[in-house]
Amino acid sequence: MSKTQIPYKIYLSENEIPRHWYNLNAVMPVKHDPFLNPATLKPCTKDDLRPVFCDDCIEQEFNRTDLYIDIPEEIRDFYKMYRPSPLVRAYCLEKALGTPAKIYYKFEGNNTSGSHKLNSAVAQAYYAKKQGLKSITTETGAGQWGTALSMAAAYFGLDLTVYMVKVSSEQKPHRREVMRTYGAKVIASPSDTTEAGRKILKEFPGTGGSLGCAISEAVEKAVTTDSCRYVLGSVLDHVVLHQSIIGQETKAAMEKYGIQPDMIIGCCGGGSNFGGLIGPFMGDKIMGKNNIDFIGVEPASCPSLTRGKYAYDFCDSAKITPLARMYTLGCGFMPAPNHAGGLRYHGMSPIVSALYHQGYMRAVTVEQTKVFEAAEKFARIEGILPAPESSHAIRVAIDEALRCKETGEAKTILFGLTGTGYFDMTAYKQYNDGAMTDYIPTDADLQKGFDSLPDIPQNK
Ligand SMILES: *Cc1c(COP(=O)(O)O)cnc(C)c1O
Repeated sequence: MSKTQIPYKIYLSENEIPRHWYNLNAVMPVKHDPFLNPATLKPCTKDDLRPVFCDDCIEQEFNRTDLYIDIPEEIRDFYKMYRPSPLVRAYCLEKALGTPAKIYYKFEGNNTSGSHKLNSAVAQAYYAKKQGLKSITTETGAGQWGTALSMAAAYFGLDLTVYMVKVSSEQKPHRREVMRTYGAKVIASPSDTTEAGRKILKEFPGTGGSLGCAISEAVEKAVTTDSCRYVLGSVLDHVVLHQSIIGQETKAAMEKYGIQPDMIIGCCGGGSNFGGLIGPFMGDKIMGKNNIDFIGVEPASCPSLTRGKYAYDFCDSAKITPLARMYTLGCGFMPAPNHAGGLRYHGMSPIVSALYHQGYMRAVTVEQTKVFEAAEKFARIEGILPAPESSHAIRVAIDEALRCKETGEAKTILFGLTGTGYFDMTAYKQYNDGAMTDYIPTDADLQKGFDSLPDIPQNK
């Protein structure tokens, strides 16, 4: 098909919503290392994880054989309320940049939670309900994950407790109210409701909390409460699996119009949206069917892939979770206080880490003022007010399109627009006031985080 026939928005029909998630683990020639039980340093068994996670999620976490995993009809029915999400041809942006590149973005912000996180939230809530559980717990940083899970828990009639990082709950009271409107109980973390919280409060009185600390509280709540499990919004393989709905839909939409991406760009926090967007395309690359340039984008202030160590580390700061081998800045890493742009997790999905380690993708960092410049440009040209996280991908997509302008190459660039930024106005205000600064940690700063890596033989 010729260029002019490609619409601004490519929508699939409801019927064309994919029926399967794509399991990258099945296609990876070298599988990533297993989780370790921190007490025994032996690979985690399914039974080790049962007190924490839902049974079906554990099965998916360990599945390294089935390339396609059926999406249950109950989950597909929920997906129908806000999917398929549009694949947009950024004609206006292309024109404004004067680039010969063709730019596409997959927009995941078209639901009330405002991000891709609902894709896994609904799956995990469904599996909890199916198992007959009464309640679930989780943590939330900026609030997108907590909101998504609140929607999913309300739909399936589950009680939900959300531990929200204290600074966020103070900065984003409206996020908290959205969650409460959907029926969630929201507790500012660290709190005095858990052992982990009390310990951190004693050690660091007045702390604004951190994601790692909130995870510790939520996990503790899950294992000490009857008929309750913990759900995580990123990092783990089953979350990346659920997010593959993004890549499956994108691939179907592109094939419909004979579009082949040369480059796929996504922002990387815990790695779930990126892993999900690239999933089926990366599978094809591993099988030798394409040579797409995959680019993960992270903030210069929290550079897990580009400057982290590939090591076993805890997923939380209280060191109660299993150990995952991943690119990490150390579970004791704290992003700089001036960091406003999201994507502040110390580690990275083991799948994305392994793909990076094995050379199937590359990673780049961007500084936050440059990210907000791109966000502002995108909002003014394409109309959507992007989330700061998503804007990391926008920045690199724009830079790559401008490079095409120099070289005259008409590359096809696809990026993931993971969400909208309506609740990020404090960060936008900083940018608009000219008060936003950049911070790149020194090697000495990073060393403090690395010093928190577990001192175990596997890390020697
Ligand atoms: C949470 C979030 C991210 C980052 O999380 P990943 O697990 O890396 O996908 C990116 N964009 C938005 C809008 C988010 O809410």
